[in-house]
Parts: sequence; structure tokens; C-alpha cells
Amino acid sequence: MATFYDTHAHLDYPDYQKDLPEVIARAQAAGIAGIISIGTSLASSERAIRLAGKFPIVFAAIGWHPAEAMKAPSGLRPALRELAKNPKVVAVGEIGLDYHHLPSEKPGGTAADDARYQQQQAEIFQQQIEVAIEAGLNCIIHQRDAFDDTLAQLKPFAGKVRGVFHCFGENADRMRRVLEIGSLVSFTGIVTFKNGQNVRDTLAATPLDKFMLETDCPYLAPVPYRGQRCEPAYVREISEVVAKVKGCLLDELSAATCNTAKEIFPKLR
Ligand SMILES: [Zn+2]
Ligand SMILES: [Zn+2]
Repeated sequence: MATFYDTHAHLDYPDYQKDLPEVIARAQAAGIAGIISIGTSLASSERAIRLAGKFPIVFAAIGWHPAEAMKAPSGLRPALRELAKNPKVVAVGEIGLDYHHLPSEKPGGTAADDARYQQQQAEIFQQQIEVAIEAGLNCIIHQRDAFDDTLAQLKPFAGKVRGVFHCFGENADRMRRVLEIGSLVSFTGIVTFKNGQNVRDTLAATPLDKFMLETDCPYLAPVPYRGQRCEPAYVREISEVVAKVKGCLLDELSAATCNTAKEIFPKLR
């Protein structure tokens, strides 16, 4: 059976509190060789590490999500440096910039609030890029409605650290700009959606050795599970559509994406 990694899953979310062992067992039965559980805060990162200690196929990424930036402590570095030492921590993430919901959209929110929010996002993004470089880890990048700023902030570190722009939904030109700084992209179940043609077009233009697969579960369940809770086993359904778009065999897709994952996250086994 062709094997795959789920390079982006939120296994610490309450959605899996009741049946995580079954979720993991279904992933293994579906040929999932490893799952990276993503951190969105220090507490979430610690939970990801605990899960990685409990389940051999689970690995952890540690990081503070940009949408939660205002809740971040003033200095993230010391705590992250400590967590990064764990042998199953394979990446720093998810980190980046997210301008999708700005404070000014809410009643009473002002342009000054937006500026403060974006400044705080940039500040913690910077801290976390620096920790990743010190720790010799690469980054899992989250950006929403903030592509140019995210790329611009990461670019000065090209050559020192690489990012995976996860849940990639941008056009082929933007994909090439990501590859130009040595970074990669990863694709979710959106590639299976009827209205996902723009993402399939970008995937078609992405070289076979420059992307990975992910679920971003519990979100974005692929067809035929769309709208339900997503889980790592569904990388299977994603991989079948991806192989079709790339015009390659499942085994070729497996070899390429697993090699890429192990190359960018060397602590992954
Ligand atoms: Zn994300
Ligand atoms: Zn995520």
C-alpha cells in the first residue's frame, strides 16, 4: 500500500477527545506513516508533544498561531526553545500572518486596532522564525489574506530556514515565489472540492518534489466526507485526487511526498 504523511493535523483539538485512539488506528490502516500535530499556542504545543509521546506515528510542531497573537506572552522564545528540544518536535508552526478577520470589522474596532494586531502578529512571527533557526528546525507557515507580507518577512531568512506554506490556495505565480525562497507548499482536501479548480490548477503547476499533503483536520474534510469532521486517514482520498491531477501513480506520489517531508522535517521518521 502506498504510504503518506499527514503533515498538518490538529489532533489536540476537543473534536478528538473521545476517540483519538480509533482515529489514529484508522490512519494507520489507511497507510498514513506519520501525522504532525500542530501547535497554535504554548498549551496546544505542549498537548501536541504529549500526543507524540503517546502515539508512535504522531509528531509535533510547536508554535503560536497569528490569529491568536494578542493572547501571546510578551516573549515566546524561552518557552519555545525548551519545547523544541523534544525529539519528536519536527517543526515550528503554525506561524505567520492572518489578516482575514481584522479588529476594525467588529463594532468599535478602529484602524489603530488593526495596526496593533498586525504589528503583534509580525512580532511573534519574527520571534518564532528566530527560534526555528536556532533550533535547526523548519517552519509551517499559516497565512490568510497576507501573502505578500508573509513572504516578505520570511524572505530575509532564506538559506537559513525553510517554510511550508500550508493549505495553499494561491495561484501558480505565488507558488513559484514561495519556491524561489527555498520554501514549499502543502495541499489539503480542498483539491477534491467541486469549487477547488483554482487549487488544482496551482497543484498541476507545482513540481512533484515541491509539495506535501495534509488534512488540516478537523477542518476541510475531502469529498466524499465534505462537511464532516476530518481526520488523518482521509489523506488517502486527497492523495487519489492529487495523483490524478499530477498524472502520476499513487506509488510515485507516495515516494515524492514522503521524501519531501523527511527532507524538510529531518526529525520525522
Ligand atoms: Zn493554518
Ligand atoms: Zn492548522
